Amino acid sequence: MSTVTQLSYEEAVARFEPVIGLETHVELGTNTKMFCGCPTAFGAEPNTQVCPVCLGLPGALPVANRAAIEATIRIGLALNCSIAPWGRFARKNYFYPDMPKNFQISQYDEPLCVEGYLDVDVDGELVRIGIERVHLEEDTGKSLHVGGATGRIHGATESLVDYNRAGIPLVEIVTKPVPGTGSRAPEVARAYVTELRDVIRSLGVSDVRMEQGSLRCDVNTSLNRPGADWGTRTETKNVNSLRSVERAVRSEVIRQAGVLEAGGTITQETRHFHEDTGETTSGRSKETATDYRYFPEPDLVPLAPSADWVASLKASLPELPRVRRARQQSEWGFSDLDMQSVVNAGAVELISATVAAGATPAAARKWWLGELARKANETETELESLGVTPAAVAELQSLVDSGKINDKLARQVLEAVIAGEGAPTEIVAARGLEVVSDEGALTAAVDEAIAANPDIAAKVRDGKVAAAGALVGAVMKSTGGKADAKTVRELIIARLTS
Ligand SMILES: [Zn+2]
Repeated sequence: MSTVTQLSYEEAVARFEPVIGLETHVELGTNTKMFCGCPTAFGAEPNTQVCPVCLGLPGALPVANRAAIEATIRIGLALNCSIAPWGRFARKNYFYPDMPKNFQISQYDEPLCVEGYLDVDVDGELVRIGIERVHLEEDTGKSLHVGGATGRIHGATESLVDYNRAGIPLVEIVTKPVPGTGSRAPEVARAYVTELRDVIRSLGVSDVRMEQGSLRCDVNTSLNRPGADWGTRTETKNVNSLRSVERAVRSEVIRQAGVLEAGGTITQETRHFHEDTGETTSGRSKETATDYRYFPEPDLVPLAPSADWVASLKASLPELPRVRRARQQSEWGFSDLDMQSVVNAGAVELISATVAAGATPAAARKWWLGELARKANETETELESLGVTPAAVAELQSLVDSGKINDKLARQVLEAVIAGEGAPTEIVAARGLEVVSDEGALTAAVDEAIAANPDIAAKVRDGKVAAAGALVGAVMKSTGGKADAKTVRELIIARLTS
């Protein structure tokens, strides 16, 4: 074990230049699997969505899924790729318990889409990420290691395999190496995956849900001294949230810099990202392509998408997220800075849906970037994972607009929505959170506040109306924030000046 120098992130990027690369796997939302007719629904009973083809039984023959090929071409086109006029699937040979055929049908030297790019906004600056290839393959099954503390195979007493996922079409999108991002490498990585997710979502070919594994990301990181050749890269596997993409790059930069600074070398290997600590640990040493003994898949005919088909798919691409965002910014009347903060918070879709549900853009932005962003930050989750729907936010705002609740009560209602107590209207009713503006109900509280604060009351009587604020505060406190502040103020002034 060589010694390691402890460096902060700032020290690491002052001494070394990171080069990142991202390999993203997207499970397509086709009705059936890649090479058989089995359904692809998420969450079914284990091993109920299988057949001889996806179980790799003797004699079973694959047939390629046209909808999956079409979806892959559309992804390639949206990423500005050239579409290969001809290509073959390849067998990638290796044993894994969740891969019953002992090989994976993938694409190797003849990928369907090549040489594209994706433009990504990083804090208002455009970064062009080169796309090396987009290819189509089949997913593996899923191993479940039980009996251990961590869910990993180490320490487990049994391992179970669910083949429902085996054979689901999987698109792999590989970037070119991305140098020159300096200290912003983690943000660039996150911005790229976010933009890629939004592009794919806009195409409607996958639900791209990282928490369900339909979008999975491997993050490559290497470091070099300024002016030197690129360093050896490591591959951090299956990073399963946008936040983790950023953290994975950051922690690898710190770790590699520590090793290099102490005179050590970086091993080419896969590494595991740990959500709890934000750090990576060593996995297996990385295989090279030759280890897989790729050869053309003999059971499938070559792919030869016609130029006409590709042209018609290109013509029917939807409005892509960057274009849509520019349009929305002008429709919503947001400044560049406002829009940038919305993008950075990953809230464009949420605000869009909240506006569609009836809220004004400003109100939608206020909730998602204010209270909800704070909550997400506190609990270290994504906005989408808070359990608050755009419809609930719109409903909350309409309760505020109608005067039923004030901002303070609205925050309590939101807490309850997050806690799963139901829709805002239900919560207001169940918890009795409605604003009290009935004068009769407030008079007693007002009299009490006046009696308890004779000095302040005297000031108001002497004409210092501004002093009434303290009495309003006292009433708000005694009513648990439910009093209508305007009514209370009017009552106080009427009591003390008439
Ligand atoms: Zn099947």
